Amino acid sequence: MSVETNDVVRLVMLGPPGAGKGTQAERFARARGVPRVSTGDILREAVQAGTEMGRAAREVMDAGGLVGDEIMIGIVTERLGRPDTRAGFVLEGFPRTVAQAKALDGILDDTAPLVVVDIEVAEDVLVKRLQIRRICSACGWTAPPGTSVCAKCGGPLVQRRDDNEAIVRERLSVYARSTQAILDFYQRRDTFRSVDGDQTEEGVAADLAAAVASVLGGFR
Ligand code: AMP
Repeated sequence: MSVETNDVVRLVMLGPPGAGKGTQAERFARARGVPRVSTGDILREAVQAGTEMGRAAREVMDAGGLVGDEIMIGIVTERLGRPDTRAGFVLEGFPRTVAQAKALDGILDDTAPLVVVDIEVAEDVLVKRLQIRRICSACGWTAPPGTSVCAKCGGPLVQRRDDNEAIVRERLSVYARSTQAILDFYQRRDTFRSVDGDQTEEGVAADLAAAVASVLGGFR
């Protein structure tokens, strides 16, 4: 069966740490039946597995900095080259630099538009959210507030190593410094949208779906 171009959803989710990108990306990807590609998850898996890449990335991640473009572009090139992304994907955590954004354009062919959605949330809301965020120590799942064990595998919940206040502030400032250039890069495209992330999960999901539909509608 051939894949209709108009059915292909290639979505990049932008937004600061704690904006709900992961939750929304997972939801959207599941609803559309496409893979969610999270560079943060790929790196955390590599750290946990103790691969060479994981060992190289660990120190940078623990300090809240950015892993080098070459490594990140390599990861994404490999992942988006797999056949399961042919019908589309949701990319989360990438690009974080203009070099990564340019590389992404080079990786993709022009058979479908690249939809870019920025989830906007004020900094004080983010700091509070990140401090209460818990993930599963066994499978990495991000738990909604008020959960005591992992709903996916029953594993114990822990704070992410980089979610303590000092590192959170560093990650937000790294984000603030690099984000404007990325927004400048994408904002003038007619495939760019922004969504208010300071709403319920359902509210953000509805706005995200509407934003994507409004872009893809223009390409039919
Ligand atoms: P995240 O789960 O997206 O917040 O990513 C966690 C950490 O992984 C970040 O603080 C960075 O150290 C690293 N990381 C993830 N994606 C990228 C990327 N595209 N470029 C550079 N570093 C990244």
